[in-house]
Amino acid sequence: MRYVQVDTQSDPLSSTHPTSEKQKDLSLLLVEELKTIGIKDAHMDEYGYVYATIAATTNKTVPTICFCAHVDTAPDASGTGVKPVMQKKYRGDDIVFSDDPSLVLRKADFPYLEKLTGHDIITASGKTLLGSDDKAGVAEIMDAANFFVTHPEVKHGTIKILFTPDEEVGRGTDKVDLQKLGADCGYTLDGGEAGSLEDETFSADGVKLIIHGVITHPGYAKDKMVNALKIAGDVLASLPRGELSPETTDGKQGFIHPVRVDGLAEKATIDFIIRDFVTDGLKKKEEFLLSLVEMVMENYPKASFEFNVTEQYRNMKEVLDQHPHVVEYAKEAISRSGLQLKMESIRGGTDGSRLSFMGLPCPNLFAGEQAIHSKLEFISVQDMNKAVETIVHIACIWEERS
Ligand SMILES: [Zn+2]
Repeated sequence: MRYVQVDTQSDPLSSTHPTSEKQKDLSLLLVEELKTIGIKDAHMDEYGYVYATIAATTNKTVPTICFCAHVDTAPDASGTGVKPVMQKKYRGDDIVFSDDPSLVLRKADFPYLEKLTGHDIITASGKTLLGSDDKAGVAEIMDAANFFVTHPEVKHGTIKILFTPDEEVGRGTDKVDLQKLGADCGYTLDGGEAGSLEDETFSADGVKLIIHGVITHPGYAKDKMVNALKIAGDVLASLPRGELSPETTDGKQGFIHPVRVDGLAEKATIDFIIRDFVTDGLKKKEEFLLSLVEMVMENYPKASFEFNVTEQYRNMKEVLDQHPHVVEYAKEAISRSGLQLKMESIRGGTDGSRLSFMGLPCPNLFAGEQAIHSKLEFISVQDMNKAVETIVHIACIWEERS
């Protein structure tokens, strides 16, 4: 409840690292608290990343594992002046927000609330998001660190802590120093329901379609002008309606999604994002999109186009499958915590997927966060405690199996 009161909203329009200076306010607070509990090497670098080491308590040689969370909150809703409200022993009713009584958290919309009857539930007050994404993960790692430091009898290898800025604007790993971190694998704490574990993400590409029309004075344009904006309109209209779009797919289905159109009569640009769980599926979708564009362009022989594909990120399962213990031990830790394991696929990317491809295999553990990026965001204190328990079990299992 303290961490969410520090405004750490990241800024998608900024080109600095971190994208907003205020993220460092929380990073610095965390460094101070880590030092206070005795983790001497805790420090923040110039980009706002926090690194810290919990020393091993075993004589065995154990791989170094890392727990990671992001300090920033999403730009989708205000993160200024967050007032966390805790409702003890939740009785299962709809939750009305004190600062905006028109805002109601309904069980009908969030069936998971049913499972939280009797839990202590934290929400914001109705004017802002809560920021449990990902300050829940931050708090859980901090609590686990405190547990390890105060329980030296619990055997574990070296544990690294990493807090990152700018995850919500897709730049959380831009300035991370994995050499310095020195971990063999990691776990992000940035997931939802207690017991859930995510080892799969989308594979993602971007496509930039640039359409070059032919421009002339509009008064004398007959049989000469080709308007790039109209071609762009035709391309958008040619996209399938009932399939292959975010609004018509779920589960393991991918999509082709136009996210931005820019243009003048002379030249228009459409940015697409392409998503699929299988990298091969991305290629197929890109070929399909290209064929649609070519079909449209046949009607405009004097116009031309460029079709540029850029890789964004890849399904982390490609990496995790090569390091099966990382996911296996997390599954066991979840069951040791008395929870039902729920394997999930993320229809998006995470810092974990980027870290995995940078050499740090890194699935995503539940942190308890719900209805993220909105004013309805909520979290159960008991779920958070289970996340802390799971962190501790993971560290112990790595030691036992080494
Ligand atoms: Zn997050």
